[in-house]
Amino acid sequence: MRKIQMVDLKSQYDKIAATVNASIQEVLDTTTYINGPEVHKFQKNLEEYLDVKHVIPCANGTDALQIAMMGLDLQPGDEVITADFTFAATVEVIALLQLTPVLVDVDMVNMNISIEAIKKAITPKTKAIVPVHLFGRAANMEAIMRIANEHNLYVIEDNAQAIGANCRFSDGTKKKAGTIGHVASTSFFPSKNLGCYGDGGAIFTNDDDLAHKIRGIVNHGMYIRYHHDVVGVNSRLDSVQAAVLNAKLPFLDSYGKARQDAARKYSGAFEGHKNIIAPSICDICDCHVFHQYTLRIIDADRNGLMEHLLAKGIPCAIYYPIPLHSQKAYADTRYKEEDFPVTNQLVKEVISLPMHTELDDEQIKFITDSVLEYLK
Ligand SMILES: *Cc1c(COP(=O)(O)O)cnc(C)c1O
Repeated sequence: MRKIQMVDLKSQYDKIAATVNASIQEVLDTTTYINGPEVHKFQKNLEEYLDVKHVIPCANGTDALQIAMMGLDLQPGDEVITADFTFAATVEVIALLQLTPVLVDVDMVNMNISIEAIKKAITPKTKAIVPVHLFGRAANMEAIMRIANEHNLYVIEDNAQAIGANCRFSDGTKKKAGTIGHVASTSFFPSKNLGCYGDGGAIFTNDDDLAHKIRGIVNHGMYIRYHHDVVGVNSRLDSVQAAVLNAKLPFLDSYGKARQDAARKYSGAFEGHKNIIAPSICDICDCHVFHQYTLRIIDADRNGLMEHLLAKGIPCAIYYPIPLHSQKAYADTRYKEEDFPVTNQLVKEVISLPMHTELDDEQIKFITDSVLEYLK
């Protein structure tokens, strides 16, 4: 059996090496390292893939979120609602811009921001909602946009984990996650669903004025060379990374399918088990692209299971072990434990199994057999 990895970037690279290498060589031959034609080409390719008017590439997914918020002119003290159960980058940039993060609980079934909790958290100071499409599953954007429209709030989608996933609306239409809110951010960190070979990120929006503003912000606030109209940052996607992304983007949908296939096999093996709640896989809308495959372990020793798997050479991880409201940097007297029953439960129950595009049946069987061996 091939060695099991949490993410197998080497096997994936081996299959597309010729294309990726040629794409990188082109950058080396033309020495267009920054803002070269590959970056422009990637921007256009991704706009077309997502069906969104503007993609603005930048240096990483954390920058992308920060720049999206800078573009919206949010002011210190403005309240921004986001999920308690996510990677810290989301809340970090809110705090960094001196906005007030308002962490709220998530939904037990899809692990995304709870619609009821958003409604309860809105105050006259609320200016924005940041849903995170966690683990690759699209948040309930229809409900979130309805609340935002009612209360005149911005919606910034953190789409670092769900590029390629669809959001389905009650009228049957579908849109790509990251193209529904006022603005969205994504990350091309190597292990993300569309990963480059270093750092990378992008901002998406359908708003022409906001796109223009953001194009200046990523480039030191310049719209005309050496004229600095707003305070900006330096955040660029380099051409080598864009070359990798141009080579990989055509495979994104098949990568999503490979992840869904692996998830289907995992969930099939765990079906009906009294101690396991496995993620559901929707056959019609691609609303989950499985950045992570995350189980909940009920009435059993989750940490013991983790040790059992690690001892058998099966990598696994706990995303995320501590709720953001309990982190020193983001603690706030406004938070009460009873406001976070779901997050507080999830951090004790979740375990993520290996998930990537290169898992084979033998590996999946070994992993599921090992889980079932421990949980009996
Ligand atoms: C990875 C990630 C980010 C940050 O992306 P970087 O490219 O690592 O800066 C932000 N939000 C979420 C939910 C992520 O998973």
